[in-house]
Amino acid sequence: MSNRIVILGGGAGGIVVANKLRKALPKHTEIVLVDKELDHIFYPSLLWLMVGEREANQIQKPLLSLEKKGINFLNALVQKIDFENRTVLTSKGDVTYDCLIIALGANTYPEKIPGFSEAAYNLYDLSGAERLREAISDFGGGRVVVLISSTPFKCPAAPYEAALILSSYFKQREKNVEIEVVTPEKLPMPTVGPEIGKKIVFLLQSNGIKFTPEHNVNSINPEKKEIEFQNGRKIFYDLLIGIPPHGLPPVLQDSPISGRNGWVKVDPRTLETDFENVYAIGDITEIPLPNGKFLPKAGVFAHFQAEVVAHNIAAKIKGESGIKEFEGKGYCFIELGDGRAGYASGNFYSEPEPTIKMRNPSMFWHWGKALFEKWWLWKWF
Ligand SMILES: Cc1cc2nc3c(=O)[nH]c(=O)nc-3n(C[C@H](O)[C@H](O)[C@H](O)COP(=O)(O)OP(=O)(O)OC[C@H]3O[C@@H](n4cnc5c(N)ncnc54)[C@H](O)[C@@H]3O)c2cc1C
Repeated sequence: MSNRIVILGGGAGGIVVANKLRKALPKHTEIVLVDKELDHIFYPSLLWLMVGEREANQIQKPLLSLEKKGINFLNALVQKIDFENRTVLTSKGDVTYDCLIIALGANTYPEKIPGFSEAAYNLYDLSGAERLREAISDFGGGRVVVLISSTPFKCPAAPYEAALILSSYFKQREKNVEIEVVTPEKLPMPTVGPEIGKKIVFLLQSNGIKFTPEHNVNSINPEKKEIEFQNGRKIFYDLLIGIPPHGLPPVLQDSPISGRNGWVKVDPRTLETDFENVYAIGDITEIPLPNGKFLPKAGVFAHFQAEVVAHNIAAKIKGESGIKEFEGKGYCFIELGDGRAGYASGNFYSEPEPTIKMRNPSMFWHWGKALFEKWWLWKWF
């Protein structure tokens, strides 16, 4: 089987699976990676870009450079997947596959909240983060609100990191700024339990950041600079940073692969879908955990899932035994903005609850995160 392996998406999951498969398989097995964008972005660094510590060209790599490794890159929009005929329909023609890995990530839909696009800086895309950087440097002072519009969203720590980094940024510039994080969650990072959530709230509050939980946004009025919530409350802002609603990319929304909850159902250990020789990894998947919650959407999981899938596909093609399984392990650096970071790691598949440990913030973890960024952009390109 598998003369042609097609990978949809050149994000965190897609580039790892492409590299690993290329290394494991002989040249006559064709590997094609399709992405609508020309560049891979290392998303965690948007937080540093926001405060002027990175430029866009420092956190991106051209996907075309994968070709020098023997991975064919097709810069096209995926329009449809015809599972019956094993064909991907793209803006640049049809591509047939013997084996398919879908790693198209979660899309953001700011338009789902009336007023969001006009009022909020979208921290979750490159152009939004770049515009936010300008707004921050021009900001004279006042109320900054970081608004999480709905769950799930990518990287459960990112909005809290953004608030902490901004707090430190404004303190250094001696600007009179009040920061508030408003979220539908009860506590930050709810999947990992209340202990870590309370630690994050403590970090926020000890930096003077207000935490407002259990608030679901209804709409935003850009003229009045007011956010209206479903509980009737209104919150005023001078500068609004928004995490938009997330969902499957349009191409997967009406696809037979999309599950009841609007994400892709997979085997939690092998990432196989209901379709033969079709795998799904990363943010498009929905993986239930023993505690009734779902595996968070984070690059670390896309990465580890990609390694498992690449190993198993290569073993199948080469007729080797020894299947690997994704074990639910993950980790996360939590930037504080003052040259320190915290670090949480553990196993999300543990029963009855994930077993996650959080290390005290230190410079060590901050440098760990910066080194990881360099390693990532070197390793896969
Ligand atoms: C600000 C921020 C900070 C973050 N920090 C962390 C962190 O510290 N740690 C961590 O683990 N995670 C972090 N994340 C989350 C992490 O970036 C994502 O979870 C990860 O990128 C998911 O990988 P993926 O391969 O599933 O999807 P993605 O990386 O989103 O890749 C999807 C790819 O598919 C392409 N695509 C989509 N639709 C189409 C289409 N129709 N046709 C062709 N191409 C298409 C996209 O262009 C994209 O390249 C952060 C995210 C953000 C926004």
